Amino acid sequence: MTKGALLYEGKAKKVFAADDPEYLIVCYKDDATAFNGLKKGTIVGKGIINNKMSNLLMQRLEQAGIPTHFVKELSERETLVKCVSIVPLEVIVRNIAAGSFSKRYGVEEGIAFESPTIEFSYKNDDLGDPLMDEYHARAMKFASAEEIELIKKYAFGINTLLKEFWAECGVILVDFKLEFGRLPDGSIILADEISPDTCRLWDSQTGEKLDKDRFRRDLGGVEDAYSEVMRRLLEKI
Ligand code: UDP
Repeated sequence: MTKGALLYEGKAKKVFAADDPEYLIVCYKDDATAFNGLKKGTIVGKGIINNKMSNLLMQRLEQAGIPTHFVKELSERETLVKCVSIVPLEVIVRNIAAGSFSKRYGVEEGIAFESPTIEFSYKNDDLGDPLMDEYHARAMKFASAEEIELIKKYAFGINTLLKEFWAECGVILVDFKLEFGRLPDGSIILADEISPDTCRLWDSQTGEKLDKDRFRRDLGGVEDAYSEVMRRLLEKI
């Protein structure tokens, strides 16, 4: 599959056309942004790690019955994926209070929930990705009631699978963001990426942050944290 025209450049990835319009080629960059693009930087080697990690995790999810956009890893930074029309919702699953949840409700980071939570935000940078409930998502015609139920089922299923897997790696899956897309036949599949950019991952023993919060909060050791979670994943996968 050869790379065609650059169709879109996002904050962390470039998307190219493929020979076949059913597919796209995603290229992972080392660019990092936070706070809706206000903070910018580079995490050296991040693109390589995120590409590989996301692909390995998506293949694992596929084996467990979750449909994903993953087709084939083409190179260190490039992956062939199914072309979907993205449902403009960020789907966030949480096991432990952190980040915007802690801020919004004034609760300490690190409080474990009895059962996981789910929330949606409208994927719109100009509006700052505002929270959106299911009724509003339906009113905006982003997804039908049935599709929202399916997205929730997939998201909680993914949480169970990933939480167990990361636990084997000595890592706590605190929270993560997913994006889903629609194939031409209307079916919903997991798209985007699963990586330390989109998940909060804490060391099970020490609670050390092994994810993008090291960049967001200027904690240092960003590259080392990404390499460490990748190393642990490769040991167990
Ligand atoms: N997240 C993401 N992209 C976003 C917003 C959140 O990947 O645009 C991920 C983030 O890495 C974390 C989870 O979703 O794992 C929950 O993020 P939260 O709502 O706490 O927002 P934040 O504190 O990152 O602003």
